[in-house]
Order: sequence, then C-alpha cells, then structure tokens
Amino acid sequence: MPETVFGKILTGEIQADKVWEDDQCIAINDISPQAPTHVLIIPRAGIATLDDTSEEHTALLGHVTWVAVQIARKLGIDKQGYRLVWNCKESGGQEVFHIHLHLLGGRRMDWPPG
Ligand code: AMP
Repeated sequence: MPETVFGKILTGEIQADKVWEDDQCIAINDISPQAPTHVLIIPRAGIATLDDTSEEHTALLGHVTWVAVQIARKLGIDKQGYRLVWNCKESGGQEVFHIHLHLLGGRRMDWPPG
C-alpha cells in the first residue's frame, strides 16, 4: 500500500465522507470539489497509478466504473449526465499516487478539459 492520504483513509487513520463501501473499493466526497457532485472511487488495492495496472486488474477497474454508475444514479445525476476521470501521473494531473476514479456532475463539463 503506497503511503498516501487515500491509504490513510482506507485504514481509518484519516476520516472521510464515505458514500460507498464494499470489499473492493470505497467512495468519498472530494475535499475540494470541482463540481456540485465530486466523488472519488478508490480501490482498496494499493496501486500507485493506472500505468501500474495489468490484465489482472481488469475486473477491479470494471467494478470501480460500475460503482461510479451506481453512485451517479443514487445521487440523481444520471439523467443529465456526468464525467468520469482517471488522472495518470504528472502530465495527467495526478496528485495522489493511489489510483482513484473521479465522478463529476451537477454542472455542464467543458471540452477540451484544462
Ligand atoms: P488527483 O489529482 O487525480 O490525484 O486527485 C486527488 C484528489 O484527491 C483531489 O481532487 C483532491 O481534492 C482530493 N483529496 C485530497 N485529499 C483528500 C481528502 N483527505 N479527502 C477527500 N479528498 C481528498
């Protein structure tokens, strides 16, 4: 498990606002939301970046995406739509090196992204 804020949230050392929990991942509200809905889906497995995944992780990555869809429905942003983002390494804008999927919604998203 990489020593990150998400690792500490997973062990309970740091408190977070959890919106989902299962055997493979948790989801929390982002501490600095970039949209009215901004949830992070965080696998329990301590993988630093998306580039550290391999074929053995396809089920986990699919599960995390499925969880994002369930949360979007639960929060009522499914009808208007939303955005899912994986930031990978420095050029991708990744700050916390424990993989996580961003679920953003509740406003119209721009394209291209910044
Ligand atoms: P990334 O840039 O993809 O690594 O995203 C990291 C995200 O984690 C940012 O959106 C931060 O606002 C968020 N974040 C950092 N610390 C916390 C925390 N303690 N609780 C919730 N979200 C956090």
